[in-house]
Amino acid sequence: MSVRETGYYDSLGIKPTASDEEIKKAYRKLAIKYHPDKNPGDKNAEEKFKEITEAYAVLSDHQKREMYDKYGKKGLEEGGMGGFDMNDILSQFFGGGFGGFGGGFGGGFGGFERKSSGPRKGKSIQVSLNCTLEDLYNGKTFKRKITHDIICKACSGNGTKSGAKAQTCNTCKGNGFRVVRVQQGFCIMQSQEVCPKCKGKGVVVNEKDLCKMCHGDKVVSEEKILEVIVQPGTKDKETIVFPGESDQAPGIIAGDVIFVIQTKEHSIFERKENNLVMNKKITLNEALTGVVFTVKTLDGRELFIEGKDVIQPKSYMKVIGEGFTIKHHPEERGDLYIYFEVKFPTTTEIKNSLNALKKVLPSGSTPPMKDDKHTICTLIPSSAPSESSKNSYRQPHMDVEDDEEDPRGGVQCAAQ
Ligand SMILES: [Zn+2]
Ligand SMILES: [Zn+2]
Repeated sequence: MSVRETGYYDSLGIKPTASDEEIKKAYRKLAIKYHPDKNPGDKNAEEKFKEITEAYAVLSDHQKREMYDKYGKKGLEEGGMGGFDMNDILSQFFGGGFGGFGGGFGGGFGGFERKSSGPRKGKSIQVSLNCTLEDLYNGKTFKRKITHDIICKACSGNGTKSGAKAQTCNTCKGNGFRVVRVQQGFCIMQSQEVCPKCKGKGVVVNEKDLCKMCHGDKVVSEEKILEVIVQPGTKDKETIVFPGESDQAPGIIAGDVIFVIQTKEHSIFERKENNLVMNKKITLNEALTGVVFTVKTLDGRELFIEGKDVIQPKSYMKVIGEGFTIKHHPEERGDLYIYFEVKFPTTTEIKNSLNALKKVLPSGSTPPMKDDKHTICTLIPSSAPSESSKNSYRQPHMDVEDDEEDPRGGVQCAAQ
């Protein structure tokens, strides 16, 4: 097997022929070694940790690995497969219980906040991606237009025309803020206020020296189309991360654009992990003698479902292999569970067949003999007893308890 690049394999210290198990083992070993909780403040460890996690995200995903082997890292990014979910990987290995770490990643590779020196990371944004059950079953590529700030190309983010230098603001002496004292009663409150002249920048630029493109803002707005690839079998609330696609600004690392899958409700199916569940109403006749019906699948096929066993009311039956697509194994599927409700006939509907039914259906236990010691009762149709009739019996008792136990009255008296 020949691969285009070996960078990700090298990061994990494995050969390009490594098995899934070897990849997992190598990552686990390194992830424990370089985990930020074990190396507080160690920048190299932090970088290494990100590097191996990114490598693992690609190599543990068959489709991404294949793409990487063929086209390298650049090919992955251009194919829209560059993003990955850091939390997803960490929870697989550390179950989210490794220090205060789980939440700190903010949904992606990018949420990794640098606490010490070095460039700060900008805000990541989360966007909902509404998908039908069909989209998640079959996979779909969405095109989403985003508008983000990018560093102005004309001035490379300086905000001024070439050669022109910004002057230190004389109002704040370059601090970007000024101290304000306010007298409040006997106290003098001291607070900081953003310098009104330079708006916190610490520098001012002459109007004529401003960059024509960004007017001194250093950034310009840009529209971009992101290709969001939803793999077959993707789960609800899963995230697809586009690292660095949020707003750029001078001196910071741009945050990520994170798409969060939101599943729309389906008229027939409900998804439970890799299985599908649907309800089916059948008649008593069908429940006893067998059912035949058709169901349209999420990929448009028509299932012809037949059952010869007696179906109990409120019970499940299943069809093997007609459930939901399994992520990264598109040829495999879970099972389709069918919950049966049995509609019994009315008294009028069976009035003329009572004797025949009595003969053919098994009777169960032998009925008791009626004699003089019995009180004779007749069943009539009814709904469930109402809640209010139950409560009215207990209510007076509860009122008394409330009065006795209310502690607030006493506390109020003591305070007065
Ligand atoms: Zn100023
Ligand atoms: Zn500019």
